[in-house]
Amino acid sequence: MSDSFPTLGIIGAGQLARMSVPPAAALGIKLLLLAQSTEDSGAQIANHIVGDFSDLATVIDFAKKCDVLTFEHELIPLSIIKSLEAEGFVVRPSSKAFIFSQDKAQMRQRLSHFLAPKSRVVMSAKGVDEYPLIAKSISGGYDGRGVWKIESRQELTQIIAEVGKVLIEEFIDFDYEIAVMVARSPHGQAATWAPTQTVQVNGICTMTITPAPELSHELSMKAQKLALDIAHEIGVVGVMAVEIFVKGEELFINELAMRPHNSGHWTIEGSVTSQFEQHLRAVLDLPLGNPAMLAPVAVMGNILGGKKVDMYRPYLHLMARDPDLKFHLYKKEVRLSRKIGHVNLLGNDVLELTHRVQHALDYMSGEIDE
Ligand code: ADP
Repeated sequence: MSDSFPTLGIIGAGQLARMSVPPAAALGIKLLLLAQSTEDSGAQIANHIVGDFSDLATVIDFAKKCDVLTFEHELIPLSIIKSLEAEGFVVRPSSKAFIFSQDKAQMRQRLSHFLAPKSRVVMSAKGVDEYPLIAKSISGGYDGRGVWKIESRQELTQIIAEVGKVLIEEFIDFDYEIAVMVARSPHGQAATWAPTQTVQVNGICTMTITPAPELSHELSMKAQKLALDIAHEIGVVGVMAVEIFVKGEELFINELAMRPHNSGHWTIEGSVTSQFEQHLRAVLDLPLGNPAMLAPVAVMGNILGGKKVDMYRPYLHLMARDPDLKFHLYKKEVRLSRKIGHVNLLGNDVLELTHRVQHALDYMSGEIDE
């Protein structure tokens, strides 16, 4: 069928690509995924090609079938993105912006005029005197992997011996962590959602609460302005998460992710426009949708792999017990502590919503059985 509806190519076919399918279907946008395997979460339900995203010829073949290209992970080599751009393919976000979500050292340097933990790249522990500190892999980390709290020079020496050069950062004894999701289009139109508080356990986000309950109105405005300023400065196109540490009245930038993000999963039911729809609109240069919330509070809980393997049976109990819960299962193999789905719940009272979400998570993972 020949019409003007574009084909959007997504490099990656995990749960973020999977959750892009409903809004793409609603808008009539064709999706094509570059999957690692036909079993990938997104590949199970969308048109896809299986191929190696680090092989230029494969990625160019894929790109030829698409009008616009975007990403759902940061793993594709920057050299490949640059080659695509040199060949004239439309890649959003561009390599010029994407680098700052791939390389934490470059990101720190580029954003050095904003408040952030003091940092530098080191290849030896010599001359590093202030502990504790945080050491990070420069690229490739996720869910706390590639991030270490270091208490002594011996520990730093050991990490450097294992991973080579690392980014070391001042340890920020923050009050809590937030993320601001922002979207920006090639036209420069931009929008933020209400800042989200992210609750982390062992480096993994377990729950998000939106709007961040402890954040004052002034700080919320400041955080959203910060996200808009960063988006504008680096020229990102699409959805971006700006992760921030809050300490008193100060906002320290932690890191950037240039794609829909776990901190924005609440938007599927919680906002007029979900982050997945907004990303499609932004990268296709359509006018952005309204990011307003649909309830006073939205709580999202990540379902982490636990004792239970069958994720269908828990629906019976939980759907009967709490008809307001919205389930999103990624159909990924259940592995310990792996994010295999999430639940969303909207309402008025933070404490009550977090209890109901926690109950659902504990039941899904097998921690409790009633
Ligand atoms: P990832 O790539 O795993 O998301 P992050 O850079 O977000 O890595 O770090 C993971 C977690 O480590 C953060 O959510 C935060 O809790 C902690 N962390 C990271 N940097 C610092 C820092 N400079 N000071 C204190 N805690 C930090």
